[in-house]
Amino acid sequence: MGRVDCMGAKGKMIELNRGVSDINMKRAYLSSVLLSVAVPVSVIAACIGNWSGVFARNTYIVVAGLMEVFQLLFMFVLRKQYSLDEFDRFHAIYTAYFYVTFVYLMFGAVCDIAQSGSILFYLAACVYIVFIPAFTKAECIGILMFQTVVVILLSIVSSMDLRMFFDVCIIQAATILLVAYQHNLAVQRVRVNMQLKRKKDYSEHDALTGLYNRRGLDARIKAIWPFCERNRLSVAMIAVDVDYFKKYNDTFGHPKGDECLKTVAGILKNSAQRSTDVVTRTGGEEFIVFVQDMDEESLISLAMKIRNNLDQKHIEHAYYGVSKYVTVSMGIAGFVPAYNNDFKKLYQEADNALYLAKKNGRNCIVYDGKVYGSIMNGASRVAST
Ligand code: GH3
Ligand code: MG
Ligand code: MG
Repeated sequence: MGRVDCMGAKGKMIELNRGVSDINMKRAYLSSVLLSVAVPVSVIAACIGNWSGVFARNTYIVVAGLMEVFQLLFMFVLRKQYSLDEFDRFHAIYTAYFYVTFVYLMFGAVCDIAQSGSILFYLAACVYIVFIPAFTKAECIGILMFQTVVVILLSIVSSMDLRMFFDVCIIQAATILLVAYQHNLAVQRVRVNMQLKRKKDYSEHDALTGLYNRRGLDARIKAIWPFCERNRLSVAMIAVDVDYFKKYNDTFGHPKGDECLKTVAGILKNSAQRSTDVVTRTGGEEFIVFVQDMDEESLISLAMKIRNNLDQKHIEHAYYGVSKYVTVSMGIAGFVPAYNNDFKKLYQEADNALYLAKKNGRNCIVYDGKVYGSIMNGASRVAST
């Protein structure tokens, strides 16, 4: 089965392949459960059936024994991999499973047709490739062509009667149609899911900066807040507002203003790197960095990091009210969630702190009534209210 080239293939294709693989994986697991029961049954059938020649029967019993071990092993490994969500390893296991099982079923079909003139095993191979289609379209076609050639050649070699040969042709044609239908259905299902996911992503992200928007923030808060409340973890928020941004726009124009907002967004994203950090653009030039489990010192140092990273960008600002470069003011609030406080309260407190930061000259950080900023060389002073 074709491996997914993660480096070269487009992200959309990888997502699609992953989706199809995901559907097939669940079926592969189910089929391994069914086959681990069906293999011993087929051994009994081969023993009591009219498979002529002890050699063929014994060979089959050895192969079936190996197959049984393989199916049980696969069930165990797959269950583990599936929960780990490691796609590449997962896909390699799936590929191995598909081919080994297919070859086994075809081997059984060859023995069955040659020894007893029955097409039951062949039917099982057909059901299998309909139930678990190969990974890509090309592979589906390859498998079907191989199967068609083997079965038709065998029908001729084993001088199958015309009636049975006709049945084989009908089953093979139906298999081809069903595999094509299954494959298209799986692809369509994944495409729909991808579109829905994309729509959801769009509705939760800001188009200009790619950060979460207010709706995205609310969705994250809904999940994070109860978790922090249960585990007595603190939550905190840094409200960020670009200083004198209206004047920036007036001087450089809106398109340049947009570029500036994108740069600020990138700085925020690069500064708050924990997987649980939620960086949001809540309005024009206003942002929120929502974090959890951080004490006062780490919150101040995160805000300082944002400030320093922005300083280093040296984004020219025509208005020299604060600095000749673009600066931001930040207000921080934080507490451990409890019954008498909620996100609204956190937002309000951070907004009040931001207001104080603006009032205290901008380009500074306010937390718990204290002002932090480079003018004071990192030392704090009490904010004037
Ligand atoms: P302060 O230091 O008090 O925050 O002053 P300010 O000028 O930054 O604040 P004000 O709220 O007066 O102005 C915000 C400006 O942000 C007004 C608007 O022109 C600009 N703005 C809002 N959204 C966008 C946007 O998407 N793109 C651009 N370029 N500008 C925007
Ligand atoms: Mg502003
Ligand atoms: Mg503002």
